[in-house]
Amino acid sequence: MRVVGTFGAARERRGGITALVPTMGYLHEGHLSLVRIARERADTVMASLFVNPLQFDDPSDLDRYPRDAARDAALLEEAGCDVLFAPQVEEMYPSEPLTRVTLPALAATMEGAHRPGHFDGVATVVAKLFAGLQPDLAVFGRKDAQQFVVVSRMAADLSMPVEVIGGPTLREADGLALSSRNVFLSDAERRAALGISRGLMAAADAVEAGERSAAALEGLVLEEMSRQALDVEYAELADAADTSRLTVLDRPGFLAVAARSGSTRLIDNVWLRPDGSADRGARLGAPSVLYGGGG
Ligand code: AMP
Repeated sequence: MRVVGTFGAARERRGGITALVPTMGYLHEGHLSLVRIARERADTVMASLFVNPLQFDDPSDLDRYPRDAARDAALLEEAGCDVLFAPQVEEMYPSEPLTRVTLPALAATMEGAHRPGHFDGVATVVAKLFAGLQPDLAVFGRKDAQQFVVVSRMAADLSMPVEVIGGPTLREADGLALSSRNVFLSDAERRAALGISRGLMAAADAVEAGERSAAALEGLVLEEMSRQALDVEYAELADAADTSRLTVLDRPGFLAVAARSGSTRLIDNVWLRPDGSADRGARLGAPSVLYGGGG
């Protein structure tokens, strides 16, 4: 695997179809599952590792974001990554960027509403990665549901010649969605956090049993979460095409949640369809051995 720090070096010596997996590092099996999807589809697999200051609305969140670049590189190499693009902030932002990519309609709800400026930062950095690295396809996790819709719409709206692919959410065997932030959870906070996935699974069960009301589905998640010491920010059923709020599941959507367990902010979702099918993600057979712990 080649480790490079500049866009120019990343574009050198690659053949055939190139796939990009953007990450902020501190990798877990969820990230690596995206690398494997990329591996199946492309001749050259590239990952990027960059903790993007532009998408952090809270400076203390940026400061404490976990980092372990050497371990990330070893994991990526093992997963079959060919090129790791790990730029310094100066390569990405040699000067204050005066150009921003913004999708106001998509950023008005959920993560966008709770984290002002977050999606402008995401869309801008992903646009830079697409422009600078010129991948043919890019793989994102559907764990970050709204982000996946934002990036897909940005690429389509701006005619970017890149196919955006979504990978399923990878979960611990007990349901907790893998996240770089899980490492911050104490045992008690981790147990409480399970209320999130339990609530989402209850909602998916209800959809499979015929429920279509957003209020009823959101209520099931809120009920499960209220049994735990969780500080809930939102639980919303959203349109999968544009993230607007749905009152009835009459088109493909996702039910998304943000909650804090202790001081750690977690997000999760299930994708739901009006035909009664649900995409709950995939579960590891055994507790994760990477960051985030199996409890
Ligand atoms: P991050 O490093 O958190 O910015 O995540 C990098 C990519 O990995 C994003 O596309 C995320 O959606 C994806 N990702 C994060 N957690 C998971 C997970 N548990 N399962 C699948 N993809 C994930």
